[in-house]
Amino acid sequence: MSPIKKVLIANRGEIACRIIDTCRRLNVRTVAVYSDADRRARHVRLADEAVHIGAAEPTASYLNIEALLLAVQQSGADAVHPGYGFLSEKAEFARALEAAGVRFIGPPVAAIELMGSKSAAKATMEAAGVPCVPGYHGEDQRPEHLQREAERIGYPVLIKAVSGGGGKGMKIVHNAAEFNDALASAQREASKAFGDATVLLEKYISNPRHIEVQVFADAHGGVVHLFERDCSTQRRYQKIIEEAPASSLHTETLGRMHRAAVEAAGAIGYCGAGTVEFIVDADQSFYFMEMNTRLQVEHRVTEQITGEDLVAWQLRVAGGERLPKSQSELAVRGHSIQVRIYAEDPEAGFLPSTGRIQQLQWPELDHGLIDTGVEAGSEIGIHYDPMIAKLVVWGRDRDEALERVRDGLARCVLFGVQTNLAYLSRLLRSEAFVQQRLFTNSIDDGQIEFNEPDAQQLAGALARALVAESAGDGVWQSADQWRLQSPAPVHLHFRHGGEMQEMHLTWADVQRARQPEQVHRHRQQIHLLLDGVRHELTLADSEAAQLALDAGERITAPMPGKIIEVRVAKGDRVHSGEALVVMEAMKMELKITAPADAEVAEVNVKVGEQVAAEHSLIEFVT
Ligand code: ADP
Ligand code: ADP
Ligand code: MG
Repeated sequence: MSPIKKVLIANRGEIACRIIDTCRRLNVRTVAVYSDADRRARHVRLADEAVHIGAAEPTASYLNIEALLLAVQQSGADAVHPGYGFLSEKAEFARALEAAGVRFIGPPVAAIELMGSKSAAKATMEAAGVPCVPGYHGEDQRPEHLQREAERIGYPVLIKAVSGGGGKGMKIVHNAAEFNDALASAQREASKAFGDATVLLEKYISNPRHIEVQVFADAHGGVVHLFERDCSTQRRYQKIIEEAPASSLHTETLGRMHRAAVEAAGAIGYCGAGTVEFIVDADQSFYFMEMNTRLQVEHRVTEQITGEDLVAWQLRVAGGERLPKSQSELAVRGHSIQVRIYAEDPEAGFLPSTGRIQQLQWPELDHGLIDTGVEAGSEIGIHYDPMIAKLVVWGRDRDEALERVRDGLARCVLFGVQTNLAYLSRLLRSEAFVQQRLFTNSIDDGQIEFNEPDAQQLAGALARALVAESAGDGVWQSADQWRLQSPAPVHLHFRHGGEMQEMHLTWADVQRARQPEQVHRHRQQIHLLLDGVRHELTLADSEAAQLALDAGERITAPMPGKIIEVRVAKGDRVHSGEALVVMEAMKMELKITAPADAEVAEVNVKVGEQVAAEHSLIEFVT
């Protein structure tokens, strides 16, 4: 076999960009493919060439085998990298490429077929002596038979789609009464998502950890493992934080898992990159769950602890070479953590959110990287996976990696779509995560305790952020020194963590409040960092920070700002509540209203004037 010269990447987004990176380094030419929705996408620009393959809907483009074959032909690519998701685990695609004489950068068709069915995979693993979760993975799919099997296994039981992935088609059943509904629902989901309603049953393991082993095999009989990853931080059965190594497990247990994974790969004549996923219970017994016959979203953490480039390994192995390293040449160095940044709403069950990215700035990372396929202006639509980016960092140990990933997350600037950034930031500070007592069901079951600042603290920080912003940093410093005799209450109305907050603070409260370490703003959206934790707030509306005034013979500016409108003149009679002056402060318009019915004695400001807090605006006849 000859080395690969030109790779077509049958994918999009961050994984397409990541594959292009390695190809470039190895002097392999790249061909991107794109749908109507991705004409201006980052992966299209990065590749040497790009071919349009169809409409935005995945079935018309990234899942369209015919269109992809045509693109291969047109571009003269000699190999195809499928990335993950889409066609990466579709035997039909690998077979079609084989027939066309193009190399598929993945395992042999037979291995994809075998592992593509969770049932067949379990049967094979059992035969190879790999421990599996007790359950039923037979052909008899009659509901009454399945229910009898569920009784035998003992509730709670997990129903899984045999062809499933991404946590879809999975239902937990707590007792016999729930069985039929759960089965029907799992089958519906499975046939919709995977075109196959076949299910299997498994004993539901409570409070487990998800530990998986990266394996690699070549066409010459070589098989190695590249250690394990702990992917226990999940929501809706899908990973959001992954790390390596799995420091909460006994070394001896890990050794047995590594050996089991290598044996599993050997047993099926595997070739290329693969992942053997295990579920580990409280007493550290582990069971085979499934094997993913592709590169995994979380492969970067393995790269960081081993110093190897897994895409480079894939290209070499697909080009017929032997594995670049033997088992004894591979070692773990330090610790790596990856967080997946998703466009989603953690307050609404982590439902995907859509929108255009308005502002985007990734941090410079010390010992880390960002994998992403989006840029400012990119649209996060309904057609594709809502993952925006992966932030991956390395540290000499877990503590250092944890510190670095928190810091990296804190410095991401992203506006325009709702994300899980603030949620991840809190999660990384939770005791459960820090102490490694977080199980795959912990998030879904609401078991995690977060250290939340109280609303008063948050409002204080918000007020300080707003004042500092409207005044500019220099002025704020002098504002700090102002001595206020009669502080005006500040009224803040904002949304935080899915709840509306209404807070009244005195000006003195504001001055006492802690200055947030970082503030970013886009219109009504304010992202601030307090004690290293990210908070995302939305001001209720332009009158959100309506400031009440103390009644008296004059009204003063409640905070530094600029006069944009003066509605009264000397001698006017005004009524209580009437707007007299409009100020711009905190980048919002504040209406300064009459505290009582009165006659204007003096107007002390002009439009355009910059005023300090406490500056006398209007005096009344007493
Ligand atoms: P893994 O098993 O690799 O940890 P998942 O279980 O989340 O990851 O499954 C892979 C996921 O990758 C699929 O759910 C799919 O939606 C998603 N995916 C597919 N293509 C892309 C892409 N280009 N960018 C980001 N995510 C993708
Ligand atoms: P997928 O193909 O969707 O990735 P998996 O079989 O890998 O499906 O399971 C996804 C997740 O569901 C696992 O990472 C784990 O958190 C949970 N899970 C799977 N099987 C069990 C089980 N038997 N008991 C408890 N949780 C499970
Ligand atoms: Mg899985």
